[in-house]
Amino acid sequence: MTSRLVPVQKNDIIEVKFEDLTHDGSGVAKIDGYTLFVPFGLPGERANVKVLKTKKNYGYGKLLDVITESEFRVTPECLIYDRCGGCQLQHMSDEGQLLYKHKQVKDALVRIGHLNDVTVHPVIGMDNPWRYRNKAQVPVGEENGSLITGFYQKGSHRIVPMEECLIQEEANDTVVRVVRDLASQLGIRAYDEKNHHGVIRHIIAKYGRKTDEVMVVIITRMKDFPHKKQLIEQIVEHIPNVKSIVHNVNPKRTNVIFGDETNVIWGEPYIYDYIGDIKFAISARSFYQVNPIQTKVLYDKALEYAQLTGNETVIDAYCGIGTISLFLARQAKKVYGVEVVGQAIADAKRNARLNGIENAEFFVGEAEKVIPWWYQQGIQADVIVVDPPRKGCDEALLNTIIDMKPKRVVYVSCNPATLARDLRILEDGGFETKEVQPVDMFPQTGHVELVALMSRVNE
Ligand code: SAH
Repeated sequence: MTSRLVPVQKNDIIEVKFEDLTHDGSGVAKIDGYTLFVPFGLPGERANVKVLKTKKNYGYGKLLDVITESEFRVTPECLIYDRCGGCQLQHMSDEGQLLYKHKQVKDALVRIGHLNDVTVHPVIGMDNPWRYRNKAQVPVGEENGSLITGFYQKGSHRIVPMEECLIQEEANDTVVRVVRDLASQLGIRAYDEKNHHGVIRHIIAKYGRKTDEVMVVIITRMKDFPHKKQLIEQIVEHIPNVKSIVHNVNPKRTNVIFGDETNVIWGEPYIYDYIGDIKFAISARSFYQVNPIQTKVLYDKALEYAQLTGNETVIDAYCGIGTISLFLARQAKKVYGVEVVGQAIADAKRNARLNGIENAEFFVGEAEKVIPWWYQQGIQADVIVVDPPRKGCDEALLNTIIDMKPKRVVYVSCNPATLARDLRILEDGGFETKEVQPVDMFPQTGHVELVALMSRVNE
């Protein structure tokens, strides 16, 4: 077999036309069939790019200047957008982002799932696609003798200072700045990962949008550190709506943020928030959706697709802290949730009690093991909801769904490619994809979430 020659070399400066956009927001250009990925390039644009790296089948380039601009190109709102990497699509208008996310879903369904005729509704965006994140998680460093908070420069461990993040709740930005400055004034040092010295590694702020409650999580290298007591007192004094201060100890040389030891050092172990009228307890370690406004939109759609009348048995696979399960339980006879992380299931049970929901039961385990076992025990489901991680559903689970023959499958996904693969398997097993609704949970970033409805084909 002859391998195609790579038509460009490192450091070449070439003119290209972008044909597509990757899921992480890079422009895709083709040079004699060879693919070049270029961050900040938009489909339809002609541009000069510098080749940075070439591999056998694809390479990477840097955008130098745009010759013909896309109608969707806008000036990014954020001053550090190109260095941070947290957002990938701020250079694209909101309209452009929604159209492109729609295309991404449609393309994956056709290319991977061979689902050419499925209706993909327009992506539901946010009225105000900024300031939506309810959790900030920032590393702490030092500059000129003071503490700084920011983000890691791409591909390095250097912390670039950042005072605000435009997709973050303002409350969280404020909390991070205040805690950092108080610690700095007390002379508390930042953790230095090179020498494994110093104290504060990360500051995390969580915010309950509906309740206006704040949780502060401080992660340090050691359990006891100078001025700990004063720091707590001053946080309480300066942040009036703080309800919980949690200390996590991470003594390891690692990039992992959390250590094993977590202690509530002031106030409550939880803050609360609502999605719709369901109340959720949020602890330092528990997972909670980062965009509660769009989560409500997504789960309302999942509920609509489930078409519950009150008589159904529902399985919620990959249930996390029970967010979808509790949403469905109000309108179902019985909901079974399954999730692999034990702490999440403990939170799910707590959340069920908190809302007086008695018809939801939660189990720890792998969905692909637990659900086949339920099936063997004779448990039948009318509706199965899945919300797997990016890699999609395990095939053993899909085969059990095919055997169980529920009336409907509601598939919530954060990855159109694995969704399309799994829908194909279910289609071949006797289900039909009815419609797909993408929801923009993470405006300004390349991520897209969606919910798909499948019905069992009558035999
Ligand atoms: N439905 C939840 C969480 C979805 S995220 C919500 O809306 O909040 C996906 C979840 O799947 C995570 O909580 C992850 O811990 C869990 N998970 C990953 N692999 C799993 C498996 N094999 N079986 C069950 N749960 C799994």
